[in-house]
Amino acid sequence: MIRVRRQPIDTGVSGWQDVLPPRAPSPPLGEAITADLLIIGGGFAGLAALRRFNECEPEASAVLLDASAIGDGPSGRNSGFMIDLPHDLASSDYGGSRDRDRLVIAQNREAVAFALAQRDTLAMPSEAVQAVGKVNGAATEKGVRHNTDYAAHLASLDEFSERLDARAMRDLTGTDYYLDGLYTPGTAMLQPALYNRLLADGTVAASGGRCRLFEHSGVSELARAGGDWCARTNRGQVTAPSVILAVNGHAASFGFYPRQLLHVFTYAGMTRALSDRELRSLGGQVRWSLTPSDPMGTTVRRVDGTGGARIVVRNRFTCDPSMEIDNARLVRVARTLRTSFVRRFPTLKAVGMEYVWGGRLCLSWNGVSAFSEPQPGLHLAVCQNGLGAARGTLAGIAAAERVARVNSALATHLEAEEELKTLPPEPVATLGANAVMRWNEFRAGREL
Ligand SMILES: Cc1cc2nc3c(=O)[nH]c(=O)nc-3n(C[C@H](O)[C@H](O)[C@H](O)COP(=O)(O)OP(=O)(O)OC[C@H]3O[C@@H](n4cnc5c(N)ncnc54)[C@H](O)[C@@H]3O)c2cc1C
Repeated sequence: MIRVRRQPIDTGVSGWQDVLPPRAPSPPLGEAITADLLIIGGGFAGLAALRRFNECEPEASAVLLDASAIGDGPSGRNSGFMIDLPHDLASSDYGGSRDRDRLVIAQNREAVAFALAQRDTLAMPSEAVQAVGKVNGAATEKGVRHNTDYAAHLASLDEFSERLDARAMRDLTGTDYYLDGLYTPGTAMLQPALYNRLLADGTVAASGGRCRLFEHSGVSELARAGGDWCARTNRGQVTAPSVILAVNGHAASFGFYPRQLLHVFTYAGMTRALSDRELRSLGGQVRWSLTPSDPMGTTVRRVDGTGGARIVVRNRFTCDPSMEIDNARLVRVARTLRTSFVRRFPTLKAVGMEYVWGGRLCLSWNGVSAFSEPQPGLHLAVCQNGLGAARGTLAGIAAAERVARVNSALATHLEAEEELKTLPPEPVATLGANAVMRWNEFRAGREL
């Protein structure tokens, strides 16, 4: 029997969730039920699995349990870049080997196509998912060189990209902070909390009662029960022949991949809604999305959906094997977020961050995800590295296709990934990871 060691804790209120109209979460599980499939975890991976399973097996029943409310966890509190291109946070220019990159691009585009198809089928507003691309912004000469290398790497893969000079970057963003940009068209931009909410509620509604969702229903035990699996929560239990565990780094709390998962937090801030006067003083386009040319730099978005026109920034990485951070950490990180914001937008220095929050990433030492069936009927779709919007979605689709026994090239590819490398022993792994990240953040200079 697996006793789950820790339940997830999401620190700080995410602006993406809070600016939306209130949504009543589904009631917690309060009885003993059965289903054909149990999914644990309602982020990108779990929700894609639920939707895909229902597409493959419309008559079968599925239950999804999440420890928190849909949209509160990492999938609802990220920066919303569903990136189609290679985006290896550990490399200097996001790229990898050419063959692997081609495969990753084809797969990531399946995730983007899935999200866009869900938007159309489930009648989501365009704010939830938009196929608008992104720009890799460079604020230093080193960043410009990264963009040059990245553009060459993309050209060698026959991938389109367009260079933006400092003036074009100012026309886009309203700030003259950036020297250069590299636009690529294939990234889908999400309002992540909205997308996750609508994917969850839309899947349940479209399934005619066959898919059921229980929020605030953390699984505390998972055990074999005859040929089935039985998951217990505080007040209920679900018995099913197949389980998809889609909890990303919390796979470690279920005892899987000991010493192979690196638990990292990253942090975001969202301004209050900008006034018309502030928007006029800023200039630029109404909506844009920048990743930093240096992976340790600052991600910036300007959004104009529900909640008004706001700027969202994300930076800093910390390694926390406890998978928890406290408010004191948020207070410290908020200073860096604010500095990065004011440096870029000095005319908005009076504008505060209405929201600051942190969230979990799960990385492996060798950048691969964990997709496996360690025991019959128990499927793991975890460890999405820095690209969970796309990779989590794919892992969820692939796991559902395995359970539904449909031919799945995606699942075959994910199963063929190399093994996750074992991390150095503690405290070396955590100290080492934090030291490397601090050093790389320092070296990122004005990109941070
Ligand atoms: C600030 C920030 C910005 C980011 N920006 C981006 C970005 O722009 N693009 C990108 O691709 N990625 C980004 N990420 C990473 C991305 O959010 C994650 O990789 C992604 O959320 C992983 O998806 P997932 O479904 O695998 O796991 P999660 O989103 O972590 O979902 C797992 C779910 O499992 C639930 N759970 C855990 N334990 C239990 C249990 N015992 N019982 C029941 N439920 C449980 C959790 O509540 C959670 O909802 C960002 C992350 C953060 C924090």
